[in-house]
Amino acid sequence: MRTLQVGSLSLWFLLLLSLPALSQDPAPSAPVAPTTEAAAAGQATTISAPSPSSFNDVVDRVIQREHLFLAQMRHMRPMVETYLQDLKNDNSGKTLPVKDQYFLGRLDMSDGPDDTSFIGQPGFGHRMMNRLTGLYALHFLPLGFAQMVVLDTDFQKKYYNFTFVRREFLGEVRCLVIDVQPKENAPPGRFLGRIWVEDQDYNVVRFNGTYYPHPKTSYYLHFDSWRLNMRAGSWLPAYIYSEESDMKTNFGKSLHFRAQTRLWGYDLKGLNKNAEFTQILVDSPQSIKDQSDAAADATPVVAQRMWERQAEDNAVERLEKIGLLAPSGDVDKILLTVVNNLLVTNNIDLQSDLRCRVLLTSPLESFTIGHTIVMSRGLLDVLPDEASLAMVLAHEVSHIVLGHQFDTKLAFNDRMFFPDEDSFQRLDFKRRSADEEAADTKALEVLKNSPYKDKLGSAGLFLRALQQSAPQLPNLIRPHLGNSMASGKSIRMSALLEAAPQLEPQRTDQIAALPLGGRIKLDPWTDHVELAKAKPVALTSAREKMPFEITPFFPYLSRYATPGSEKVALTAPVPSDGVK
Ligand SMILES: [Zn+2]
Repeated sequence: MRTLQVGSLSLWFLLLLSLPALSQDPAPSAPVAPTTEAAAAGQATTISAPSPSSFNDVVDRVIQREHLFLAQMRHMRPMVETYLQDLKNDNSGKTLPVKDQYFLGRLDMSDGPDDTSFIGQPGFGHRMMNRLTGLYALHFLPLGFAQMVVLDTDFQKKYYNFTFVRREFLGEVRCLVIDVQPKENAPPGRFLGRIWVEDQDYNVVRFNGTYYPHPKTSYYLHFDSWRLNMRAGSWLPAYIYSEESDMKTNFGKSLHFRAQTRLWGYDLKGLNKNAEFTQILVDSPQSIKDQSDAAADATPVVAQRMWERQAEDNAVERLEKIGLLAPSGDVDKILLTVVNNLLVTNNIDLQSDLRCRVLLTSPLESFTIGHTIVMSRGLLDVLPDEASLAMVLAHEVSHIVLGHQFDTKLAFNDRMFFPDEDSFQRLDFKRRSADEEAADTKALEVLKNSPYKDKLGSAGLFLRALQQSAPQLPNLIRPHLGNSMASGKSIRMSALLEAAPQLEPQRTDQIAALPLGGRIKLDPWTDHVELAKAKPVALTSAREKMPFEITPFFPYLSRYATPGSEKVALTAPVPSDGVK
């Protein structure tokens, strides 16, 4: 099942690009970890250093915990998604995305303890490839970024110099900050940078730097890797930010990019088992009897509805089980409230349970599965306000109102037997273009009768921003399961463009689209999503608008003993009139 696809440019190629000019690189003794990171987090608190003897013990504990971490990761199969934007400076010196790349797969590090040292080894690329399965219609492999979940697969005291820097808080977790440098004689590909270690069990919760020294003809990217306390004693990788601004390659080009890697879906097995157990409990003799009292054969119309519902349930359950769809939760209810606003003001009664769900991936897409409206996390992130959200939902609900055909072949359960990595081929919810146009027309009508009718300018503004960015960001716009929001010159709901104001990139009070990651917070263990609690910040310059762009991660770390309190404090601005 380990089918491997290598596109025209694989990521480990990026990671291990030939670079003969390496003799100019800093000596291993020169620390590269920036000291401004903590200051940027704004939560640094300096406390006196531990005594040298205890620091030695601390290092032993850290190494011990890191080996335990690797042992844990061998049993984990999280989803891993990397989204990368290539950047360029325009004439005015402003940095803008000019190209993008997208990766999605499942991380598998189960190869056993004998095969631990893959970083910097000659066969590194191939070994890392063996750790990746389940690629979903991808052109690239995420391994170049996925490996940044690991500090060092053969983490040993003898390879490193450890220097205590200070104590500081990351979120509510007090950490020891330690600079880590490989010794002169250490094998290549060791970690070089700074680690943050929580001061109860001495787990690494963040590491920031690169791998060093690189083989003669290769080099490594820089990264900032974060772990969250997902279960008691388990700090597991959740976010990795990577950035290079001027990395010279031997092709005469320089690398200039930003990339976000997210991991989630750690507890899919547990989730599925719990669901089965609940079903057994519910299925008691009493409930069977209650049903039989009211039972009657379904009328033809009701039977058709039940059949469609069965196909819908099959698809939704499958997407949830493989970690692509969030379990039902509060965000669904918020979406449903907006849908109900649209339906009630238009006197539409659908006679059916309408549901909303969140697709966990970044590319901007929305689609319907029967009577279930699905919106991607990335799309929810970038929409600037409730009116633009209503615009997206109005289009989808129009498909349902107009009774557009839903292929019920998925009602046969055998059609659900396929490998996870085939999901995007097997589950396809694309509509005919005639249906798309009809839904746009109906959606406009629905919006004009709705509470959002006077705020459609911002929805149109979002579409303008999307239209402007679409040529540079094809992978962000490319849907996996539904129709594209913008393809070629056509854009969904294009009638709204006419009434929209012009884009004014220099105005800080005109927010057409938000950066990625600012709205939806994903629990990587349970896959539950909720709205991020970070308060909106005033933008100090137009440079901070960053529509559809990638920013670094600064999650608010907390211990598992206080569940639900982990908040992501992102640098992304959120307008005050955002979705509530
Ligand atoms: Zn559509």
